[in-house]
Amino acid sequence: MDPGEKTASIGGNVITNAGGMKAVRYGLTRDFVRCMEAVLPDGSIMNFSSNVVKNTTGYDIKDLVIGSEGTLCILTEVTLKLLPAPTCSCTLVMPFASLEECADMVPKVLELPFIPTAIEFLERELIDIVERNLNKMFPVKEGEAVLIVMYDASSRQELDSAVEAAAQAALANGANDCFIADTPERAGTVWEVRGGILEGMKADSVSQEECDVVVPRSQIAGYVKAAKRIALSHGIRVEPCGHCGDGNIHTEMLRDASMSDEEWKSATHASLKELYALAKELGGQLSGEHGIGNGRLEFLEEFVGPRMIQLYKAIKLAFDDRLILNPGKVIEFREN
Ligand SMILES: Cc1cc2nc3c(=O)[nH]c(=O)nc-3n(C[C@H](O)[C@H](O)[C@H](O)COP(=O)(O)OP(=O)(O)OC[C@H]3O[C@@H](n4cnc5c(N)ncnc54)[C@H](O)[C@@H]3O)c2cc1C
Repeated sequence: MDPGEKTASIGGNVITNAGGMKAVRYGLTRDFVRCMEAVLPDGSIMNFSSNVVKNTTGYDIKDLVIGSEGTLCILTEVTLKLLPAPTCSCTLVMPFASLEECADMVPKVLELPFIPTAIEFLERELIDIVERNLNKMFPVKEGEAVLIVMYDASSRQELDSAVEAAAQAALANGANDCFIADTPERAGTVWEVRGGILEGMKADSVSQEECDVVVPRSQIAGYVKAAKRIALSHGIRVEPCGHCGDGNIHTEMLRDASMSDEEWKSATHASLKELYALAKELGGQLSGEHGIGNGRLEFLEEFVGPRMIQLYKAIKLAFDDRLILNPGKVIEFREN
């Protein structure tokens, strides 16, 4: 697990079901929660599940609460499953001449008999933004798009086999090269640039608007190309990047100083509508990890349908009939 927000609490991670870059191998926060103690809005103290390995006793409220964005109850205690830490890891950078070739490599990596820890892609334009604004240097200069693949292992032999298989697959599938960052220092130069993209984009623009869709992994290149076309047709710069090992593409729209508040607001709204329609058409979902909150509420029904919205409302009322927990988030009760 490696959720993006390093200052997050355990309760915050669980209630937002935080994911992050290492979800390809380790899964989401949900996969590590055994049980929890929670307080309901009426003051009842509840235990959802218990510290057992399996449990089919009644409805699984624990899994309903995970990811509920603080709208159902307050978590006061969480029991987590722990894994042994890996003893070694290695990062590979595969540069490709185009984004399509880079995205086509993702299923090839996943077909290998070694589970990667993380698979991320970066386009050269985005690497340039980080280098230019944050004074960080990416170690690989070739390629219009790079695939970053990380492996964890419990032995050097297992790690070497994974790295060799991935490097061979990259070269056989059109990578210009395969840079192997096998020391923490070398890997650091790669992940520092990846980790700096949000800050880099902030420094490179007046403000940003993010779309957090998740699409089937086979549709990543199609989504990214169309997303750029959509944003450009509304006059905004867009920098998609993200967790291509799980299809969660953060599509960051960047505002340049020349845009007025009104132009920015209407262009981002129009772009978001089209981006969400595109994600849906490709078989994707509205949010991969940042949730619904109130910012994505207006698009939720489009994805889940009216019957699901009824179910969400019934669930909310069963926990919180006075609507006091994070009112207006995830589900909205409009006054007639
Ligand atoms: C820069 C950045 C990068 C991020 N990257 C990722 C990422 O890569 N992957 C990912 O999955 N998420 C990501 N997030 C989202 C973030 O990691 C999660 O939202 C985070 O785990 C929330 O934890 P927190 O303690 O900061 O909660 P807060 O931000 O304080 O709260 C988040 C919500 O949870 C509720 N809440 C908090 N604690 C409790 C509790 N004990 N009981 C009930 N409700 C509670 C709050 O009311 C609020 O609605 C990112 C966020 C930021 C700002």
